[in-house]
Amino acid sequence: MTNLIELINAELPQFQCGRCDTPGCRPYAEEIAKGSPHNRCVPGGQKTLDKISILLNDNSLSLDHDYGPELKPQVANIIEDDCIGCTKCIDACPVDAISGAPNLMHNVINDLCTGCELCIEPCPVDCIELVDINEEQALLARSHSEYFFDLKVELDHRKKKKAKMNKNISKNVDLAGLINQKLENRNLDKGLALKKLQLAMLDSHKTEKHISSADLEELKKQL
Ligand code: SF4
Ligand code: SF4
Ligand code: SF4
Repeated sequence: MTNLIELINAELPQFQCGRCDTPGCRPYAEEIAKGSPHNRCVPGGQKTLDKISILLNDNSLSLDHDYGPELKPQVANIIEDDCIGCTKCIDACPVDAISGAPNLMHNVINDLCTGCELCIEPCPVDCIELVDINEEQALLARSHSEYFFDLKVELDHRKKKKAKMNKNISKNVDLAGLINQKLENRNLDKGLALKKLQLAMLDSHKTEKHISSADLEELKKQL
């Protein structure tokens, strides 16, 4: 099974675009190996379908165009003057091919960009264009896309874990606040209990005639 997954993955175009309804190329290879239809990688075109059909010894399927358009060799380019630094394209890029910080201009790292187009739609000011490149350059960028895709997945996982931890910490802080409040209330109760005890002691002095009624009332007022 692992061998088959590797062989299928090697034939997929490595855009890591998710158009096949799985998060990336390897997950789709795994799905195909389990029996899912092998005609959903439209970006790879007929060439990819033919190669996988040979591997599976099944040429009964034609490309399912419900899974999107074919992609040509291209890279994204950010029009610097128009970029507002919103970071939406960074979140959308499956291979972390965009650098930049909030409110600053962003850039595409050409050597990593697979041309998958996922950053185009989220840009609120429409400042990302696609530039044609030759097939060789495109293959070079896609040859390491799986590595960067895995890194991005790992990074997202860590970010979610950190966000969960921060949420838990803030929950704990709230809980500590509640506990402190309860403790404070308990201290107040303790004071009240002490006062009651002192009153009872004073009353007992009166009963045993150690103290006059007037002195007792005066002492009670001081509590
Ligand atoms: S290139 Fe896109 S559609 Fe094709 S297998 Fe990879 S992730 Fe799926
Ligand atoms: S920069 Fe845009 S086109 Fe290039 S890989 Fe990232 S999302 Fe895809
Ligand atoms: S989505 Fe567009 S405006 Fe926002 S940082 Fe990216 S390129 Fe700039």
